[in-house]
Amino acid sequence: MKIVVLDGYTLNPGDLSWDALKAFGECDIYDRTPPELTVERAQGAEVVMTNKVLITREIIAALSKLRYIGSLATGYNQVDIEAARERNIPVTNIPEYGTRAVAQNTFAHLLNLTQHVAHHAQTVREGRWTKSVDFCYWDYPLIELVGLTMGIVGLGRIGCASARLAQAFGMTVLAYDPYVDPSPVEGVQMVDYQTLLRESDVVSFHVPLTAETEGMLDRDSLALMKKTAFVINTSRGPVVRNADLAEALEQGRIAGAGLDVLEVEPPPMSNPLIVAPNCYITPHISWAARSSRARLMNTVIENLRGFLEGKPVNVVN
Ligand code: NAD
Repeated sequence: MKIVVLDGYTLNPGDLSWDALKAFGECDIYDRTPPELTVERAQGAEVVMTNKVLITREIIAALSKLRYIGSLATGYNQVDIEAARERNIPVTNIPEYGTRAVAQNTFAHLLNLTQHVAHHAQTVREGRWTKSVDFCYWDYPLIELVGLTMGIVGLGRIGCASARLAQAFGMTVLAYDPYVDPSPVEGVQMVDYQTLLRESDVVSFHVPLTAETEGMLDRDSLALMKKTAFVINTSRGPVVRNADLAEALEQGRIAGAGLDVLEVEPPPMSNPLIVAPNCYITPHISWAARSSRARLMNTVIENLRGFLEGKPVNVVN
């Protein structure tokens, strides 16, 4: 059996092992694959795995031996699952591997916005504390989380984990999720989206990217938020209209943003958020702790084993 991994580098840049996958058959593992090479590289493969490389209807049609497509991620919008289904090709995903890690990065961003630890540590390295006339100084308003209201948009796995962390910090938690009622987390109050935007000091997105969620934070919704509020997005970039958020930050209509995802990744330097005031961007790292990726790798193997043993799991089509 021939197995082709089209873009394995981000899952395993060298600190994990592909051996369990190699045990299933002949394996070609590419770090990255440009679109023009996808068909050539996947030709003759029964199993194709992709993280972000597009597997379109045309590509599926060109691969006559293909029997299985594995997404190396939770999302599977890179695969035309309908075209695969028509050929009876199961597409699998990795539903859960880093829930706590994404919630942790949500709070890494929030704690950065409220304490600016790295900034202040840098000023100490540069000698400012040594020269200070007082025993302390700070460059930004320091903000206590206790007593603030956290608004969670999308109360699924990561939304719930983030809600629990917020409660541990003494925050009041509101949530908006039209598909969840009642809240699975005790003490979280379900509200409509407008109420959440109006009442929250922190608005944090944990929704999948769908036609419904694309652009759900835009100029109109930003206008409902408090001037002192923060936006956190660790979900998918296009959920937030990047230009609208940058404009709100420029005009001081909200206080700051912590983002792990952008509309286009990697972003062009023309993305206005890159230079927007009090906007902190990490390069899509919430998922990438080694322990999370190791869990992901295990599920990749279990998904393929399930398929080969006639007991498919995590099939999305
Ligand atoms: P999940 O499916 O458990 O939860 C998603 C929740 O969003 C569900 O409860 C769903 O009902 C809700 N939802 C759907 N449409 C909505 C809408 N229009 N308005 C409000 N809520 C809506 O998924 P999860 O495991 O919690 O992951 C959430 C998202 O986080 C993923 O879809 C993925 O895009 C993103 N993610 C990002 C990283 C990263 O590295 N930055 C890593 C993993 C996941």
